[in-house]
Amino acid sequence: KTIPESVKIENLKSQYESIDVNNISKFSELPLSQQTMKGLKESKYFKLTDIQRESILLALRGNDILGAAQTGSGKTLAFLIPILEYLYCEQWSRMDGVGALVITPTRELAYQIFETLRKVGKYHDFSAGLIIGGKDLKFERKRMDQCNIIICTPGRLLQHMDENPLLDCSSMKILVLDEADRCLDMGFKETMNSIIANLPPKRQTLLFSATQTKSVQDLARLSLKDPSYVSVNEMT
Ligand code: ADP
Ligand code: MG
Repeated sequence: KTIPESVKIENLKSQYESIDVNNISKFSELPLSQQTMKGLKESKYFKLTDIQRESILLALRGNDILGAAQTGSGKTLAFLIPILEYLYCEQWSRMDGVGALVITPTRELAYQIFETLRKVGKYHDFSAGLIIGGKDLKFERKRMDQCNIIICTPGRLLQHMDENPLLDCSSMKILVLDEADRCLDMGFKETMNSIIANLPPKRQTLLFSATQTKSVQDLARLSLKDPSYVSVNEMT
C-alpha cells in the first residue's frame, strides 16, 4: 500500500517546529522528503556542516535568514535543500513557473550550484536553469519560462528582466542571495536593488555573506523581513 504524497508532506511539515537542531548531526535526522534524502545519499552527503545545521530547519519553517558563513562552509546545500523541500511540499509542477531564484556573483559559482542541484535534486521532478550569460540570450529566454529553479548571476538576470517582458517571476517564492558581499564588491549594488524591486514582496529570502559590511546590512534591510541571524564560527 502506498502512502499518498499529501500525507507524507503533512507528516514532514508537522515535524518542522518540534525538532531541536542541537540534537541532530545528520541529514537523515531532518524531516526531508524521500526524494531529497536519496539525492543526498547518492552524492555521499551524510553529516551536516554547521551552517547547514543552523539554517536548514529555520528555512524550512519559512523564516528569512541572514547567514554569515565563510567559503567552504557548505552554504550551497543550506539553501538548495530548503528550496527543494518547499517546492516539494507545495507540490510545485513544471507548469507552475519560477519558484526559486538563486543569485550568485560569478558564472563559476552558478555552475557549481547548478551541478549540486542536479545531483541532489535528481529524484525530484523540477526543472532548473542556469542564466549566466555567454550563451545566446534568446536561447536562455526560451528556456527560462520553463524553469522552476533559476541559478543566475546578477548582471545577466537584470538584462533578462529589462529586455524580456515574458520573464515572469511573479510566482517566485524563495530568493537566495549567495555571497552577497562579493556581489556588492563586484559593483552589483544597483543591479541587486533593481532585481529585488522587481520581485514579489511576498517571498522568503535567504541571504548569505562571508562578511557583514555596511553595504551587506543595507542589502539585508532592503531584502529581508524579520530575519533570523545565523553565524557560524570560523574554523581555527
Ligand atoms: P560554500 O558555498 O559555503 O563555499 P559549498 O556549498 O560549495 O561551500 O561546499 C564546500 C564543499 O564542501 C563542497 O565540495 C561540498 O561538496 C562539500 N560539502 C558541503 N556540504 C557537505 C556535507 N554536509 N558533507 C560533506 N561535504 C559537504
Ligand atoms: Mg558557495
